[in-house]
Amino acid sequence: MARRRSSRAGYGWKHRQAREQLLPYAYGRLCHFCQKPMLRGQKLDLDHTDDRTSYRGMTHASCNRAAGARKTNAARRAASDPKSRDW
Ligand SMILES: [Zn+2]
Repeated sequence: MARRRSSRAGYGWKHRQAREQLLPYAYGRLCHFCQKPMLRGQKLDLDHTDDRTSYRGMTHASCNRAAGARKTNAARRAASDPKSRDW
């Protein structure tokens, strides 16, 4: 039995509601990551501030994911960085 976990994996109901409402207004505007227009048919994400208290606006999903991945990779690199050698 496959359990659906979309609400846990994503941002939750509130985030999805906000995204749905903003989506129609996003088309034709510039994505703040790549400064290119967001077009109908493209996957768009609702980007939020790092502390998730407010929204920065709609972006291309690919741009948003790429930015998120960069952040995660940087954090992971910093965590695993063998800075001190005790020898
Ligand atoms: Zn973009």
